[in-house]
Amino acid sequence: MDTRSFAPRRQKNRKSKPEDIKAVVARARQEQRKLEETYRERSLKIHPWVCARCGREFSAGNLHELTVHHKDHDHTHNPPDGSNWENLCIYCHENEHRRHLDHLEAKGMEVGGDQDSGFTHTPFASLKDMMKKE
Ligand SMILES: [Zn+2]
Ligand SMILES: [Zn+2]
Repeated sequence: MDTRSFAPRRQKNRKSKPEDIKAVVARARQEQRKLEETYRERSLKIHPWVCARCGREFSAGNLHELTVHHKDHDHTHNPPDGSNWENLCIYCHENEHRRHLDHLEAKGMEVGGDQDSGFTHTPFASLKDMMKKE
């Protein structure tokens, strides 16, 4: 068997210009947005369009005010059965995060960055952190 035919083809260097940081940032941002849209969509499919806190009901017309919250505040934790997601209206969602921050501050923990993407949406937060470390 000729294994060489299975070897991945090396991409030709296009004038070997290093990819500039802007392109990298743009792509990372796009990836993150894609991920967010995916879990939001999934959560809205799994859970009813009702705020889990105040019970407000939503329809296609005001659905943008319904956000997806991560129960454990870890937005990388996205089990496909939706067990870490909760549909919350933007007000309850904000409350939830404020409570969580108060809780962390009370424990004297460092509070940093974007816990998940909801009402306070800062797609650059994690990138900024990454870049600071340079
Ligand atoms: Zn609510
Ligand atoms: Zn949240």
